[in-house]
Amino acid sequence: MIRGAAFLLCMLALSMAASAERLPTSVLPDHYDLKFDIDLAHAQFKGETGVDVHVIQATPAITLNALEMTITSATISANGRTQTATVTMNPEAQTATLRVPQPVPAGKARIVIAYHAALNENLRGLYLSRANSRSYAVTQFESTDARRAFPCFDEPSFKATYAVTVTADRGDIAISNGRIVSDKPGPGAGQHTMVFTNTAKMSTYLVAIALGDFQCVEGSADDTPIRICATPDKKPLTGLALEFAEYILDFLNRYHTIKYPFGKLDVVAVPDFAAGAMENAGAIFYRETDLLADSHSASLATRKTVFGVLAHEMAHMWFGDLVTMQWWDDIWLNEGFATWMATRPAAAFNKAWHIALDEADENQTAINLDSLKSTHPLHVSVATPGEIEGAFDRISYEKGASVVRMVEAYVGDEAFRKGVNAHLEKHQYANATSEDFMGAVAAVSGKPVDRVMATFVLQPGVPLVSIANACTNGQSSVSLTQKRFFLDPGAAGSNERWQIPVCLKTAGTPANCVLFTEEKQTFPAGMTCSPWVFANAGGKGYYRTAYTPDAIKALARDAESALEAPERFSLVSDEWALVRAGRDTVANYLDLVSGFGNEPMADVLAAVTGRLGFINEYLTTPANQPAFQTFVRRLLTPAYESVGFDRKADDSEDRRTLRRTLIATLGDITRDSTIATGARQAVDAALKGTAPLDPILAGALINIAASGGDASLFDAFLAASNKATSPEEHYRYLYALASFEQPALVERALEYARSSELRSQDTSLYLSQFFGIRANRERAWAFTKAHWPELGPKITISLGDVNLVTALASFCTPESRDDIAAFFKAHPLPAAGRTLQQTIERINNCVETKQRQQTPLAGWLSAR
Ligand SMILES: [Zn+2]
Repeated sequence: MIRGAAFLLCMLALSMAASAERLPTSVLPDHYDLKFDIDLAHAQFKGETGVDVHVIQATPAITLNALEMTITSATISANGRTQTATVTMNPEAQTATLRVPQPVPAGKARIVIAYHAALNENLRGLYLSRANSRSYAVTQFESTDARRAFPCFDEPSFKATYAVTVTADRGDIAISNGRIVSDKPGPGAGQHTMVFTNTAKMSTYLVAIALGDFQCVEGSADDTPIRICATPDKKPLTGLALEFAEYILDFLNRYHTIKYPFGKLDVVAVPDFAAGAMENAGAIFYRETDLLADSHSASLATRKTVFGVLAHEMAHMWFGDLVTMQWWDDIWLNEGFATWMATRPAAAFNKAWHIALDEADENQTAINLDSLKSTHPLHVSVATPGEIEGAFDRISYEKGASVVRMVEAYVGDEAFRKGVNAHLEKHQYANATSEDFMGAVAAVSGKPVDRVMATFVLQPGVPLVSIANACTNGQSSVSLTQKRFFLDPGAAGSNERWQIPVCLKTAGTPANCVLFTEEKQTFPAGMTCSPWVFANAGGKGYYRTAYTPDAIKALARDAESALEAPERFSLVSDEWALVRAGRDTVANYLDLVSGFGNEPMADVLAAVTGRLGFINEYLTTPANQPAFQTFVRRLLTPAYESVGFDRKADDSEDRRTLRRTLIATLGDITRDSTIATGARQAVDAALKGTAPLDPILAGALINIAASGGDASLFDAFLAASNKATSPEEHYRYLYALASFEQPALVERALEYARSSELRSQDTSLYLSQFFGIRANRERAWAFTKAHWPELGPKITISLGDVNLVTALASFCTPESRDDIAAFFKAHPLPAAGRTLQQTIERINNCVETKQRQQTPLAGWLSAR
């Protein structure tokens, strides 16, 4: 799945302190008949579940998962005899045990359970959603919530087929994994009953139902029917998704030797949805904002998000749905693969999207998290629902994708594709482990992929590769040394050793890739002597690099001409990480980026300016902040004057994106008054409807206008958010409320988090915006704490707690760190336990960076 906005993950979080246990493997499900009679008006449903099982050993009792339901009858039939079972619910273990007087013999048996339950409002299980005065019922089961909708063997390895029947009011239609094969009136007056085709063999967490007033646009790819569905008012926003879905399905069919396995594909935008999107087999469910967009005004970022999330979810049809991890400890196999695959069709679809830079960014996201002491290996031991939820993090997604990408580059695209297909063919409609996958790629490629991957999958952390180049007899050689990289300068050493595919290049020679397996090794690097040897050619390596000061200076000089954009991206990111780790100083970083003022690629420039924002906020003092701002202004003004404030008719998307980065940086760091005035005028004009904003620039201008904005602008933003026709515009104005800095407006914006107008699914992300604004951070935290009894239950919906706790890492004092730790000790968040450790570690690192780097910064500024 894809998480809600902040995270591209599809998931749902549990807030309960459950300690569910594994089911015995002595009874195996084969097929389910699932009947749901859904009463939207009274927010409840009746269910009947029939399960054909295979009993391995005669037993008087069968235990399966069931939670928050009332079972009214249960029988077990075998060998022609039906016995009534007594039922013992164990809410702690999330199970129901059916016990019969005479043991059920080994062999085939059938369980039938009748029950009823409420449609909950917690966005998990089978839940209630509302929009436009209508009610909807929707499922979200991953990871462990199918058991809230029907009694089942709720673990990924218990695969079975499902026959779904839904009875509902005549005005509501149901969408499920299969196609509707019959739709008849009754049984009650005003009801109709929809029967769906049997599903393929799959895990319980992939079963899906959406019921309500949906309308769809229809298309197809490779003879597979595709529908994009939404509430009727949002139907006009489905066109872009349909175009993309058709392209992606065609691409994935060509990549794989197994064609799309689930017959039809429905993609449904649901009014309330906790995760970003969920890859139910043949029926992907979505948060509206990640799927629906105005095809005329959608920004570049929104187009890429719609495409990327669709590609991620559709990739899951193979990775996850067709072949599923054996247990949740290998969730990275699902999520890392879907994240990796998502960029394949995107890169083919539009070269101007510069997908390689997005991938480099993804690598950095993963490496940043993996540099903390509180990281975990890709393969991670999990048992309880809370632990399982916690594993849906950037390690599973972005590190998984980065490691897969590095290995793909190491063995070559075609060999890798063959390995992937061999793996899928071998385990289709079944389950597999990390070892199965590594073995498949090793066998096909003939390269030691299993040994390479094992060092990245089973060990936590990221290697630091130190590079020392030498010149002997007119030829370059390079000595590489590896050790684990920690952000914390005080972290104790650690003995991990990786087998790293390292790609070397020098100015004028093509990349030469080597396998670096020892603690220290020397490799030839080129036929001529070079002042630098760059050790992450292509920017796909999952490691940090550290160069000698001389090599850094030489690289700074040559970067723009000799390095590709993803390589420049990794170079500046690595150098900044070395500053944060106390290995280099901020002066080294500023020396390097002083050469980046004319960087043509906005994403690379943003990697530079993001760190300049950090320096401005945390490392400058009142005495030297003006000098730092002068440096930033001088660095960026030539580029800004070249692109200008206003859009020109012949501007490329690259140029418009560069303008966005320059304006956002100058508006934020230097508080440039002409930019502030220009932003306000442009936003006023857009709000009046006289001149629309350039979609690429809109977010930056709206935030700049908000930071200096008054009450009338606040009112206008709220109104614009409420009447927006596309989710993009809605959230652009809604989240900008957090950027107003006048105290009375900060209070109004915070109070809005408590109002019923804000959907619960948005509470966490809305509040998280405030922590990114230095002027509002303290007040927002005080507000969150004061209203926790009210806000907490909304924040803990669907990894919202993870997003919120992640956002708190913007604090940078020992006092705030201790306060955050104490607060969550008193108000624990089961799914965000590890995230809290990471946030504490990041605040500590910020505090330490401040202590360590303020003096070098002052020295560097005064020497200029
Ligand atoms: Zn996913």
